Amino acid sequence: MEFKNLINGEWKPSSNGKYSENRNPASWNEDLIGKFPLSTEEDVNEAVKAARQAYKKWRLIPAPKRGDVLKEVGDIMFARKDEIAFEMTREMGKVFAETKGDTQEGIDTAYYAASEGRRLFGMNAPSELANKMNLSFRIPIGVAGIITPWNFPMAIPTWKIFPALVCGNTVVFKPAEITPKTANTLVQIIDEAMKKVLGKEYIPGVINLVHGKGSVVGEALLASKEVDLISFTGSTLVGRRINEVGGRELKRVSLELGGKNAQIVMPDANMDLALDAVLWGAFGTTGQRCTATSRLILHNDIHDKFVEKLVERVKKLKLGYGNDKGVDVGPCVSEAQRNTVDEYVQIGLKEDKAKMLTGGKFAKEGNLAKGWFYEPTIFVDVKPNHRIAKEEIFGPVLSVLKCSDLDNAIEILNDTEYGLSSSIFTNNVNDAFKAVRDIQAGITYINGATIGAEAHMPFGGVKATGNGHREGGWTVYEFYSEWKAVYIDYSGKLQRAQIDNY
Ligand code: NAP
Ligand code: MG
Repeated sequence: MEFKNLINGEWKPSSNGKYSENRNPASWNEDLIGKFPLSTEEDVNEAVKAARQAYKKWRLIPAPKRGDVLKEVGDIMFARKDEIAFEMTREMGKVFAETKGDTQEGIDTAYYAASEGRRLFGMNAPSELANKMNLSFRIPIGVAGIITPWNFPMAIPTWKIFPALVCGNTVVFKPAEITPKTANTLVQIIDEAMKKVLGKEYIPGVINLVHGKGSVVGEALLASKEVDLISFTGSTLVGRRINEVGGRELKRVSLELGGKNAQIVMPDANMDLALDAVLWGAFGTTGQRCTATSRLILHNDIHDKFVEKLVERVKKLKLGYGNDKGVDVGPCVSEAQRNTVDEYVQIGLKEDKAKMLTGGKFAKEGNLAKGWFYEPTIFVDVKPNHRIAKEEIFGPVLSVLKCSDLDNAIEILNDTEYGLSSSIFTNNVNDAFKAVRDIQAGITYINGATIGAEAHMPFGGVKATGNGHREGGWTVYEFYSEWKAVYIDYSGKLQRAQIDNY
């Protein structure tokens, strides 16, 4: 089946007629999902032009009405949740329970956005002059370029597109080439909801979808003078490039980038809970979450016993196709991603004193040979300066480090260029609060895994994880709107601020 782009309300192939194949990473040769356009710069420019045109009308639709569109989007997504999740697992591999969660996050984001259409609060302040009123409120910005990764094919695009739309911006969306089908479904749903809610007022071009490669479609969005803001989630490498070009062009840029998240376990913690959490944090989504637990920092006193239990549990994790019952861990998303994981394992094996206790191989038994499976892997005796302790691996590999006390644990945790998520297991309330204060990360969990953000809370990281913006909740609405200050003078005379009153 050949899928299409959505440009100016019309589903159409790319201008060059080229396609790329979308396949199931658990069954690569046998399961072709569809062919998706490999679009060109010309397609992007056409989409941007449509978005620019649509902006003139969309910004004038009252925000609560724009919110009504998002309410409808949430309703349709809810009705189609299982189907969306099934297809998402098929195209990117994580297990069905997780793709359902990914879809639910999109639904939550839709309903939040719908209600925000009735808030988008402004702020008033008294004037320093008599018979004068000062107001300030939010205005839309224009055309938003949205560039997303493959690991949360539904949630991440909704975090960006829904607030962008509610604020009155129009959108050109370039999803990851690896997960185009979920993106297609999302955009189809948004367009359907627009038609239903707006009826005769329907505006083509409010949401545009352009499939294809980052190096072509993403770059064209960056290059376009008609794109006012870019929201990007992906690697730090590409994020730096986007910030450079965006900075030069004075585009507003939001970046959510890499992570090297850690879970600390103190001796007073509930060990079973800490064990469940690290299994979920490190191997959920096959370790391919920006918030995945990539490092485990264990207190010396509990280290050996904890590691022993951990290895036992990891060996029992069932690998397989994520839509099959009883599967814990799906494949890596692609052959390239699996090779990267294996390269890091080879690097780990060469690190001074680091020891691999389990995993470290392509998983090939039975049907696993059909996909990009990698055995969940654990390294112990990892030192903070080892590459497997510093660099993002984005796969099912956990590096275990030892610590002597809380200060030492936090020092190790902070010893990374990234700062997205973090976690500490302790029953000592003082240690918990110190950790909240001293851990350098955008997210800290106390007695919870490093993964599991909720849609209405600020999401994002410090240091090389981003550029200071947050997605989620109310915070993201700051990014997609700007302030207008309004002065209303009803004195009937010329009043000069700072001059006539002082
Ligand atoms: P990526 O290679 O940076 O790609 C992300 C997106 O950018 C894709 O759509 C990609 O297109 C596009 N792109 C690539 N080069 C581009 C360019 N020169 N100009 C414009 N766009 C370009 O990242 P990934 O491998 O897909 O995703 C994994 C990374 O994302 C990890 O580092 C992970 O930590 C990060 N991530 C962060 C968060 C967060 O919120 N902090 C969440 C999820 C993931 P293609 O389709 O061609 O690849
Ligand atoms: Mg695929």
